[in-house]
Amino acid sequence: ASASASSFADSAAGAAVKADDRAHVFHSWSAQGLIDPLAVAGAEGAYFWDYDGNRYLDFSSQLVNTNIGHQHPKVVAAIQEQAGKLCTLAPGFAVDVRSEAARLVAERTPGDLDKIFFTNGGAEAVENAVRMARLHTGRPKVLSAYRSYHGATAAAINLTGDPRRWPSDTASAGVVHFWGPFRYRSAFHAENEAQECERALAHLEQTIAFEGPQSIAAIILESVPGTAGIMVPPPGYLAGVREICDRYGIVYILDEVMAGFGRTGRWFAADHFDVTPDLLTFAKGVNSGYVPLGGVAISAGIAATFETRPFPGGLTYSGHPLACASAVATINTMAEERIVENAAEIGEKVIGPALREIAGCHPSVGEVRGMGVFWALDLVKNKETREPLVPYNASGAANAPMAEFAAACKRGGLWPFVNMNRTHVVPPCTITEAEAKEGLAALDEALTVADGHTD
Ligand code: PLP
Repeated sequence: ASASASSFADSAAGAAVKADDRAHVFHSWSAQGLIDPLAVAGAEGAYFWDYDGNRYLDFSSQLVNTNIGHQHPKVVAAIQEQAGKLCTLAPGFAVDVRSEAARLVAERTPGDLDKIFFTNGGAEAVENAVRMARLHTGRPKVLSAYRSYHGATAAAINLTGDPRRWPSDTASAGVVHFWGPFRYRSAFHAENEAQECERALAHLEQTIAFEGPQSIAAIILESVPGTAGIMVPPPGYLAGVREICDRYGIVYILDEVMAGFGRTGRWFAADHFDVTPDLLTFAKGVNSGYVPLGGVAISAGIAATFETRPFPGGLTYSGHPLACASAVATINTMAEERIVENAAEIGEKVIGPALREIAGCHPSVGEVRGMGVFWALDLVKNKETREPLVPYNASGAANAPMAEFAAACKRGGLWPFVNMNRTHVVPPCTITEAEAKEGLAALDEALTVADGHTD
């Protein structure tokens, strides 16, 4: 089946967009000569469409950020209104939308995370959180998990626990990686989640002992690791890390850039586990990426460090008025329209059960995990051995099974989020039951292609 056609089609305009793109746009994470980017003509809600009349249901939420869907009229109107009033103002001034955005974020973050340092995205939030932790403790090292993603700038890429850091890790001084809980692929063959949790906490304690607790500024964790595979931690893990941090005076940073603002069916993933970190990084869903925005929510204790001592960091566009206006509108709209609740309900009643059923019908689906609108299918060559459908960090011919699977999704009108041997189901938090079912049916169909690569 081909993707459903929208009423819009202008292939010549699409070709012109593509020509300029190929001539002048240098794309991220890509070998420039090997890519063929789709020219997108427009988007609305959970869909976007190209210039040839193909419409795609966005099961990726772009880069897992359009939590409120595309072109939400209330957010678009707020940006337009703010543009008419005041487009830009340096971070040193107080401005109504920035104050309001900070209050709305602080009201939703857990515990005493009541001061907000705004950035332009997630990686900058991580950079600044780490700087705050190092200055607050006077210690150099930061511990971060393998199977994590924290961004593509200098400190953030080195904290990242996936192969994307390899080309740049000559600058990784001070970063130590450890293994968080992940029972499905743990080498320790834990019998249950509680045992995996215990193993992971013991391993973290041992890492701290060997690195020297007095040298460790921070532990940074994604509350629910996203890009690396949506591994919902066992109950007790995040709270266990809180206890360890308290014991050694280590700053606890939870990175909620992807998991925050409704994705897991709560405002923050940490809310599921009743844990308050010392610093919480956010971006993406805070305003669904309509204008770049991110930030660090800061606890009272760390904020106190910088009451009389200046914080040495800032960005020309920190707390940009257009970004803050879109955050205010996004957060208010999510509350008014019960969008976080929708993410929880669709996940529990529609997506979770359907994915489990799909897993039972396809030899290529090894494990289903997730919550809210934050799900991963771990694709395997063999369910017994759990051998991944493609090798770790596969490219070119080695990655063909995943590339073929992704192409099959697109032919079915579904835009997937594919990473290594996984496909993630991460639609907007606004997705309706009918849309979710449409996407799940296309996914079910495309998985037969992946099945063809099993033993
Ligand atoms: N942290 C996490 C958990 C992320 O998922 C991401 C992006 O995917 C980042 C940080 C980096 O955010 P950005 O791409 O906005 O710099």
